[in-house]
Amino acid sequence: MIAKPRILTGDTPTGKLHLGHYVGSVENRLALQDQYDCFFLIANKHAFTTRADRPDEIRQSVIDIATDWLAVGIDPGKSAMFIQSEVPAIDELTFFFAMLIPFNRVMRNPTLTQEIKDKDLGDKYPFGFPMYAVGQCADILAFRPQLVPVGEDQLPHLELTREVARKFDQLYCGVNPHSQDNDYVKAGGLFPIIEPKLGRVKRLVGTGAPDAEGRLLKMSKSLNNAVFLSDDADALKTKIMGMYTDPKRIRVTDPGETDPEKNPLWAFHETFNTDVAWIDEHREMYTNGKIGDVAIKKKLIDVLNILLDPIRQRRKQYADRPDDVIDILRAGTARANAIAEETLALAKKAMRQDYFSRSVAIIR
Ligand code: ATP
Ligand code: MG
Repeated sequence: MIAKPRILTGDTPTGKLHLGHYVGSVENRLALQDQYDCFFLIANKHAFTTRADRPDEIRQSVIDIATDWLAVGIDPGKSAMFIQSEVPAIDELTFFFAMLIPFNRVMRNPTLTQEIKDKDLGDKYPFGFPMYAVGQCADILAFRPQLVPVGEDQLPHLELTREVARKFDQLYCGVNPHSQDNDYVKAGGLFPIIEPKLGRVKRLVGTGAPDAEGRLLKMSKSLNNAVFLSDDADALKTKIMGMYTDPKRIRVTDPGETDPEKNPLWAFHETFNTDVAWIDEHREMYTNGKIGDVAIKKKLIDVLNILLDPIRQRRKQYADRPDDVIDILRAGTARANAIAEETLALAKKAMRQDYFSRSVAIIR
């Protein structure tokens, strides 16, 4: 049997999955889980970059994320769902990879800079914060995947991953630096130069007001601006009814802003409402002061309930059975270790550091 090409992607357990994850990455995972051998990572070590003082919360989030995955329809019989900190090969590769990238190159990563700003980390972030960018190269390359489905904010991390893979392959596998990216493996390289796969929506905005520069923030677990896939109908209603729209609009008769870059209400309709004729008609009315926020918000609530209801139903199966979720993660983590250990052994061989063999076993 020919092995299927692999996918690696994942989420940080800093909260529950939200609509941004759904359109940014989860839809692609669902669409691709038959054609690809999928590995979905819960990046629990990366959660410690910003909340090392809250281990209980991280532990709960690990279960929440796994439950969210099951609720959206990730099939654990097909796809391996696993916990990052139980795959030691990832840490070991991180250390070796950290030698291949200049420190300044890591710090130039615009996603890190943006996170420092958005999460108000100032200059107090731990050493492990920039290190997570290197760790993420190892998360990915440990699986030598063909495809990495992510949202737009991850592209700089993926670029770093591509640089690390090229460097490793050139240094230790004798690949000619002039090779085309998709020839690296053919030329003897261990690591493929991976391709990002962006979702239908690259960056879904949150429900809150824009930042000081007038840019709407990305919907994010840690920015208090998210609609979670696990929100019940009441929570959804409260969030949508209270969301940021057009602050200049005092009366219904005032002309309203419909640019999705400025008004998240319209960003959400354009993303989730499949009735294009409805959107066109009501956008026009909104622009001309013929309809208020409430009607547009109510429609959005209906649209989102249609998306979320089946997810809520499936979630019920798992919500009160965290032990079953742990069993699924145990099985997935064992599968992940098999691949990551193989990669690490090949990497050590290429680096001439293959002194002994070993195995990692997860005890049931
Ligand atoms: P945190 O605030 O803790 O960083 P997050 O909401 O950014 O959390 P991550 O776990 O960092 O979520 O991201 C998981 C995946 O979801 C990544 O591929 C990321 O690009 C994608 N993603 C996250 N937020 C969005 C969004 N608003 N729009 C599109 N994709 C997103
Ligand atoms: Mg993030």
